[in-house]
Amino acid sequence: MVKKRLIIAIDGYSGCGKSTIAKDLAIALNYTFIDSGAMYRGITLFAIQNNLIKDGSIQNEQLIKVLGSIQIGFSELPVSKNHLLLNGIDVEEEIRTPEVAALVSKIATIKEVRQKLVVIQREIGRNGGIVMDGRDIGSVVFPNADVKLFITADNTIRAKRRLKEMKAKGIQTTLKAVLQNLEERDELDRTRKESPLVQTEDAILIDTTDFTREGQLKYILEIIQGKLKV
Ligand code: C5P
Repeated sequence: MVKKRLIIAIDGYSGCGKSTIAKDLAIALNYTFIDSGAMYRGITLFAIQNNLIKDGSIQNEQLIKVLGSIQIGFSELPVSKNHLLLNGIDVEEEIRTPEVAALVSKIATIKEVRQKLVVIQREIGRNGGIVMDGRDIGSVVFPNADVKLFITADNTIRAKRRLKEMKAKGIQTTLKAVLQNLEERDELDRTRKESPLVQTEDAILIDTTDFTREGQLKYILEIIQGKLKV
């Protein structure tokens, strides 16, 4: 029996563990995992590397002009290590810096940037068998997704988790700075004009504050098994 290969959309606030959930699900289901936030970070890194940020402000017009020449893709590594490629170069580490985190949500407000990335995201998910996480996956990228999850968690827990990840990568920062960045990004994501972060009516709300990694995977797999039987 050929099982239907689902499209699973995971949205929610910054640092709620969306990518961890998406990655764990993709491994469990043998699906492709796509971290759409990495794509916005890739465009941000390009802007930094090409002097399109002047005194902290993004040169929108100039960035829009060169968007066509920016290639964003993913490596063919195993699903759990799917790295972002910017113009063919693996920049997975470079896109995780505080410098990129500070600018990415402003880049993500630019309509043309979103349009470009949504086209790539839809193409990757065309045949199903995908778990994609982001802010607009269930609302804009795949409004007909088979499963939509909306993830939340307590703010301090989120910041502590993100700080731990950053420290493990050797990035120097503080809990206060991480928390401030998460809250600023949430605010920009929620209030922007283009594809703001919203919980769609058909999305299942999951608060990961008190879940262990294994516990949340088990819980979500049960939800998905239910969908597969429908
Ligand atoms: O998921 P991550 O925190 O890496 O995403 C970085 C930023 O990219 C978010 O803060 C958000 O502004 C933007 N983003 C978005 N739409 C997505 C994924 C990410 O606007 N689908």
